[in-house]
Amino acid sequence: MTVHFPFQNSYSALPDSFFARVAPTPVAAPRLIKLNRPLAVQLGLDPDILETPEGAEILAGKTVPAGADPIAMAYAGHQFGQFVPQLGDGRAILLGEVIDKDGVRRDIQLKGSGPTPFSRRGDGRAALGPVLREYIVSEAMYALGIPTTRSLAAVVTGEHVIRETALPGAVLTRVASSHIRVGTFQFFAVRRDTDAIRRLADHVIARHYPDLLGTERPYHALLAGVVARQAELVARWLLVGFIHGVMNTDNSSISGETIDYGPCAFMDAYNPAQVFSSIDEMGRYAYANQPRIALWNLTRLAECLLPLFGEEQDKAVEQAQEILGAFPETFSKAYQAGLRKKVGLFTERDGDEALIQDLLDAMAKNQADFTLTFRRLGDAAGDPAADDVRAEFMDPAAFDEWARRWRERLAAEPQSAAERQTAMNAVNPIFIPRNHRVEAVIQAAVNNDDYAPFDELVKVLAKPYEDQPDYAAYADPPLPDQRVLQTFCGT
Ligand code: AMP
Ligand code: MG
Repeated sequence: MTVHFPFQNSYSALPDSFFARVAPTPVAAPRLIKLNRPLAVQLGLDPDILETPEGAEILAGKTVPAGADPIAMAYAGHQFGQFVPQLGDGRAILLGEVIDKDGVRRDIQLKGSGPTPFSRRGDGRAALGPVLREYIVSEAMYALGIPTTRSLAAVVTGEHVIRETALPGAVLTRVASSHIRVGTFQFFAVRRDTDAIRRLADHVIARHYPDLLGTERPYHALLAGVVARQAELVARWLLVGFIHGVMNTDNSSISGETIDYGPCAFMDAYNPAQVFSSIDEMGRYAYANQPRIALWNLTRLAECLLPLFGEEQDKAVEQAQEILGAFPETFSKAYQAGLRKKVGLFTERDGDEALIQDLLDAMAKNQADFTLTFRRLGDAAGDPAADDVRAEFMDPAAFDEWARRWRERLAAEPQSAAERQTAMNAVNPIFIPRNHRVEAVIQAAVNNDDYAPFDELVKVLAKPYEDQPDYAAYADPPLPDQRVLQTFCGT
C-alpha cells in the first residue's frame, strides 16, 4: 500500500521567481496525532493509508509523495504596518495541489517542515502548541461556516524546537484554496515586475474568480472581488467574536479565506477593544479594528494592481479608489444582516441598527459573554419565561430595559417563537474554541503527551450550533482564574 496523492500542480508551473524549489527536511520519529478523515476523503485521499506509518512520514515531511513538486512560495508583506520586501514561506512547503470532490483546487501544504530559502533566521519548524491551536481554531471556523484554510493532519516530529524553552516539534498539514496573499502581489510590485503581477493576477482569476475570465476589465473586477470577499469575511469574524491577531498583508488571503492562525482568539466578554496577541502592543489588530485593517490591506493590494489598470496612472488611482470605496458598504451590509439574524429578526426596519447597537453597548458595559448572550437570547425568543440571558449582564436590569423594546420589535413579525429560536440557534453558536480550553488542551499535550482533551475539544467544536448536553461545560466562559489574557505566535 502506498499513499496516492492525485496531484495536479499549477503554481509550481509559474515562473521561477514565484517560489523556491525545496524539499521538506526529514525528521526523527514522526507520529500522527490527528488525521481529519472527512477532509481526507473530500480531497480524494485514502484516510486508512494516511494513518499508516508511511502516511505519518509523508505528513511529517520525512517522505515526499509521488507527484509532489515541493516549493516554498515567495511573498512580501506589511507586518504591523512596516513593509518587508521579502518574507516568503520560511517554515512551510507546498507539496502540491489536488482537485477535491467538488472540483475545487486545494493546496496541500506542510507547516513546520524545515528551513527554506525564505527562513531568514528562523528554524523552519513549528512547536506543538501553535500547531494544535491552528488545528482546533481553523476546524472550528469551518464548522461555524466561515471561509477558512483547513487542517488535514497534525504530527509530532520526535524532535524538539527551541523557543524560550525546548518544546516538542510538530507539523501541520494545511489545506487552502490557495496560499496566495496580498503580500504575494507586493513581492512583485516592489520589484516593479509588472509581467509577474499580470501572471499572478491571471492565475488568481482562473483559480478563484473564474467568472471574471474574458470580462472587459478583469483586473478591476479582480480587485472588486477580493474587496467583497474580505469585507464579508471580516463581518463573519465579528459576528462570532473572532480576533485574528496578526492581520498583516502576508496573512491576508486573496481567495477570501481566513489564513495563518497565530495568536488568534475568540473573545469571552464582549469588548470591542479586545486584544489577545502578546505582540500587538498598540491594539492595531483589536476586535473592532479588523474591518479598518482589512481595508488598509486591500488598499495595499490595489496599489500593486495599478500597473494593470491602464497607462494613465491618475485615472488608475481614481478607479482603484472607487473600487475600494465599496468596502464600507459591503462590510456593513453583511455585518448588519448578520446581527439582525443574531437577535432573531427576519425583516429589516428603520431603527433595527440602533436597537442592536444598544444591546451591544449594554453587553460591553456589563461584560456580557458574547457567545452566550446571543445563544440565551435565542432561548428567550423561544420561551419568554427563559431568562438565563439576564445573568450574562452584571446589571440584569440593563437587559430588561432593552428586552422590552426587542419584544415589541419582534411582535411586528409573524414568525412563531419556535421558528425564531430555531433560526437564531442556527447562527448563534453555543460552542466556540474558548481560549482557556485551547490552552488546557495544549498543556495536556505538551506536558503529558495526552491528546484526549484535544480530541474531545475538536469533536465538540465540529457541531458548534448543536446543544450537546454531555459536553455542556465546553460552553462555559472561563472562571476568573482560568482567564487567558494573552496569546502567542509561537514562531
Ligand atoms: P507568521 O507570523 O507565521 O505569519 O510568519 C511571518 C513570516 O515569518 C513568514 O515569512 C514565515 O514563513 C516566517 N516564519 C515564522 N516562523 C518561522 C520559523 N520558525 N522559521 C522560519 N520562518 C518563520
Ligand atoms: Mg504568515
